[in-house]
Amino acid sequence: MKRRLWKRWVKPALALALAVCMLQGAGAGEVLAASLTELQQEQERLEQEQEANDVKLAELKADQTKQQEYKDALDAQMQNLQGQIDGLNAQINSLDASIEEKNAAIAEKQQSIDEDVETLKQRLCAIYMMGDASTLEILLQSESVIDMAQKVELLNIITEHDTKLIAQLTADMEAIADEKVEIEAEKEQVALARSELEAKGTELAAVQAEAERVLAELNQNVAEVQAESERIAQEKAQASAEIDQWWKDYYAQLAAQNNSSSGGSSSSLGSGGYVSTGNFNWPVPGFTNISCGYSSGHKAIDISGGGRNMYGAAIVAADSGKVVTATYHYSYGNYVMIDHGGGYSTLYAHASSLAVSVGQTVTKGQTIAYVGSTGNSTGNHLHFEVRVNGVRKNPFNWFS
Ligand SMILES: [Zn+2]
Repeated sequence: MKRRLWKRWVKPALALALAVCMLQGAGAGEVLAASLTELQQEQERLEQEQEANDVKLAELKADQTKQQEYKDALDAQMQNLQGQIDGLNAQINSLDASIEEKNAAIAEKQQSIDEDVETLKQRLCAIYMMGDASTLEILLQSESVIDMAQKVELLNIITEHDTKLIAQLTADMEAIADEKVEIEAEKEQVALARSELEAKGTELAAVQAEAERVLAELNQNVAEVQAESERIAQEKAQASAEIDQWWKDYYAQLAAQNNSSSGGSSSSLGSGGYVSTGNFNWPVPGFTNISCGYSSGHKAIDISGGGRNMYGAAIVAADSGKVVTATYHYSYGNYVMIDHGGGYSTLYAHASSLAVSVGQTVTKGQTIAYVGSTGNSTGNHLHFEVRVNGVRKNPFNWFS
């Protein structure tokens, strides 16, 4: 939003300010620096937003891991419970089979009893049939006491064998029925245990569902914050491109101004009234160690202490000119940029503190800042850039 506003309104205003500055030759540095500062503040704001977002993301991811572990534990618990229920089901099935067996055995005994009773009846019938008479009649028709006794004995023998057998079968059947009752009681207990486990399972399933819901919510939050991260990264890239564009525009204006001027001396800068010839002095007297040289990836030189403590060492202007930037930047830290005229400018980054402010005119060798390690830096050093018409060049080409 802020940047769009800048594009639409501030940028044309800046161009206008530049045009005015070319005519009047004063006061433009402040306007320019203010616009640049605004862009850099936006960049810093995005940097902070990203840091806050990263913290949020890390917290959410920790929560997500914890919740996943909790859910895994619940799943394992549920699996264990299901295993127990399966075991009880198997036990119940086996008991049911035993009950079936007992039923069959009881039925078999019953059938034997029925058959024996039938046989006994038939035998008795056969006895009755002899002489066409009832048992009493058979006995009464006995020819003698001996005969009667023999007949009674015969009856006894016949019935005793069968009644014994029937009694035995009945006793067996009752024993089986008792066993069956015991098995049924056992089954009832197992079924009760199963019901309890099933109730536990129902409770656990509810906890499991809630854990799953929370996890899904966390997954969603993580995805959202990650998307936010991507958005911030895009905005940062855009902000950075706009700052690059700002410098490009700035130098294009300066170049146009140089071309339109006759001698190019007094109007080539329009701010400091100084035109550099590109002869620079060393920016940190007394320190010459180069910890990172100029390359396509690092279009600057890093001057470090090389074992000596460099903190607070004076950083001096490489040439005379006017301070166009003196501020904090998330990456450069405290830094100063000086416009020397003639298309030359220099930049001094990571300072512990600054000794100049925007709009100030400085002379070659004047202390402008003090060495430090602010911004994107891991130790005390000076990051020094030389720009010629806005393009960063190897500083070693310009030291006198
Ligand atoms: Zn550097």
